[in-house]
Amino acid sequence: MIDAERLKKNWSLVAARGDQVPLYFYSTLFLTYPETRDLFPMNMAAQRDKLVNALGAVVSNVDTIDAVVPTLQALGRDHRKFGALRGHYPAVGEALLATLEHFSGPHWTPAIAADWAAAYELVAATMADAADAAAHYAPAWWDAEVVGHERRDLETAIITIAPGTRLDFVPGQSVSLCTDLRPRAWRQYSPANAPRSDGTIELHVRAVDGGEVSTALVSLLRPGDSLRVGPAFGTGLTLRPGSGPVAMIAGGTGVAPMKALIEQIAATPRPVSLYWGARSPAGLYCLDQMQALAARYEWLELVACVDEDLFGAGARVGSPAELAVAHGRCTGADVYLCGPSGMVESSGKYLVGAGIRADAIHFEPAGA
Ligand SMILES: Cc1cc2nc3c(=O)[nH]c(=O)nc-3n(C[C@H](O)[C@H](O)[C@H](O)COP(=O)(O)OP(=O)(O)OC[C@H]3O[C@@H](n4cnc5c(N)ncnc54)[C@H](O)[C@@H]3O)c2cc1C
Repeated sequence: MIDAERLKKNWSLVAARGDQVPLYFYSTLFLTYPETRDLFPMNMAAQRDKLVNALGAVVSNVDTIDAVVPTLQALGRDHRKFGALRGHYPAVGEALLATLEHFSGPHWTPAIAADWAAAYELVAATMADAADAAAHYAPAWWDAEVVGHERRDLETAIITIAPGTRLDFVPGQSVSLCTDLRPRAWRQYSPANAPRSDGTIELHVRAVDGGEVSTALVSLLRPGDSLRVGPAFGTGLTLRPGSGPVAMIAGGTGVAPMKALIEQIAATPRPVSLYWGARSPAGLYCLDQMQALAARYEWLELVACVDEDLFGAGARVGSPAELAVAHGRCTGADVYLCGPSGMVESSGKYLVGAGIRADAIHFEPAGA
């Protein structure tokens, strides 16, 4: 019987050592099993805390593992795109245990070691089994060609890709992708269209300051280039059934999945209010597209919002969540929320504070 409480306590002791933990973990892994280096991006800066922190958090919560089995299975299926094989899992487990032992110091005991090993085995087996099963019906990744690349402004591009074989997704989900311009560095983006008969997918990418992949996708990618695309994931932002009103609150490229949802809703229309915000009118990079949709569908209301409208571009001044609440659009509605993580967090808090039921607010949790 694994003592989950003891694991959690041990994990908080280790995690308190901050950046040293992933550094030690990856050095151990790459020194002991050099072949695993090829599974990770060349630039490890953004990767550094991802794997080891996720492992520590999940494995030490082994007592609630049933709740995360679907997530672990999805992770296992998704990790095929990195070239992760069943044979790599023991190497990762070994490096994880060596890291935990190193940072536990005198608190490391044979009993804790045995608990970590058993918990890791359970997690690894769940992931590896799901990956093996998926190999029978889906590729590890889809090769796709860039068929459109439109710079909307200095920071943002609308990129259209054509996967070689059909990649199934539902509006509100995201896909991860990887470009040869930044080998093995995968990032997530949300399709901005409902599935099309020709299988093409539209992505809206904003270059973030110092960002490794987004800057390459916006500035360097060209039509004809190829990308690798991982399986679609996420359920947080997918459309809930019903015919009642929908309020959409989006910031920046968070409008992309909203556009996909609007295309889906067009098949069985219901009232939709889209409040889309950016710092300034220049940040509303596809306002023309969204206005065209609002003109086409009488059930769709579009309210563009900005923090400041210095040049009188006609957008409402205020945050999308505050304006949507003030206009009564969130009351009794299913509310969908997407944008930069800080904006999603603050908008969610604002909505709950304004009396909107938490179970009516839908978003993709951070870390998805
Ligand atoms: C579910 C989901 C859907 C998404 N959909 C979209 C979408 O539709 N469109 C979109 O544009 N984006 C989307 N994103 C965000 C996207 O996945 C990327 O995170 C974003 O493009 C930045 O990637 P990057 O490689 O350019 O930045 P990264 O290189 O990952 O860096 C991100 C930021 O962290 C900083 N940073 C990097 N390394 C370090 C370090 N060691 N220490 C401190 N700071 C560091 C960088 O300076 C930068 O500001 C989505 C994210 C998720 C989780």
